[in-house]
Amino acid sequence: MPEGLEAEIWRRACEPLVGRAIVAADLDDRVVAEGFTDAVIGATFSAARRRGKVVLLDTDRATIGLHFGMTGRLVVDGDASIDKLAYASGRDDPAWDRLVLFATPAGRVGPPALRFNDPRRLGRISLDPDLDHLGIDFDEVTQRRLTVALAGRSGVLKSLLLDQHVVAGLGNLCVDEVLWWADLDPRRTADSLSPAELERLAKVIRRRLPIMLARGGSTTGVLSPAVRATCPPCERDGTPLERASVGGRTTIWCPRHQH
Ligand SMILES: [Zn+2]
Repeated sequence: MPEGLEAEIWRRACEPLVGRAIVAADLDDRVVAEGFTDAVIGATFSAARRRGKVVLLDTDRATIGLHFGMTGRLVVDGDASIDKLAYASGRDDPAWDRLVLFATPAGRVGPPALRFNDPRRLGRISLDPDLDHLGIDFDEVTQRRLTVALAGRSGVLKSLLLDQHVVAGLGNLCVDEVLWWADLDPRRTADSLSPAELERLAKVIRRRLPIMLARGGSTTGVLSPAVRATCPPCERDGTPLERASVGGRTTIWCPRHQH
């Protein structure tokens, strides 16, 4: 599913909305928060932010929260930023639009300012979401913050890094990727990590994720979807990668250099 990296790509795509006023909205009320239309029609976008996997569109009246499900995507001014996204269907069917916003200057003439398109209807759109429960954002991870977040935790690394209360924005692909780069076995428990290992993990999160972001998101790592599907020899040492369920999620790792 879309991870924090995809949300960041969409957040950036939303920046051209800032300063524009919302003039009309078409919505699927099974997915969009109650009172949405009253809250946002006539409001002006003031910022495009992100917390974890949630894109936040501030207006001068309310903040719109875009929570993506398995298949959701965003089209801004007619342009889908992540059309190559592995999870997104290549089809763009307006029947799957859950929220369509029209904004100045085009109004209802020309492409909508924003379309939240979600075939499986697993995403949702909130107003003024409370995100206080989220952990450190993936792009603000430091050794110190990570040490605090994992302190006293006896759970396995894979599960804890996926837990949005611990680190916000990491999904299944990015967690496997950072553990591969940090030489850490996903089945290790957090309380077994030495300070040096925590430092290595924090460094990898800070260094590798921006590279993947620049390449196009969570599918662009060493453990890409193609690699995950076939488990070829590890790029680093030639040992066949392993695949198993760890913490209930499909996990890929190298049994040789990750320990
Ligand atoms: Zn390896």
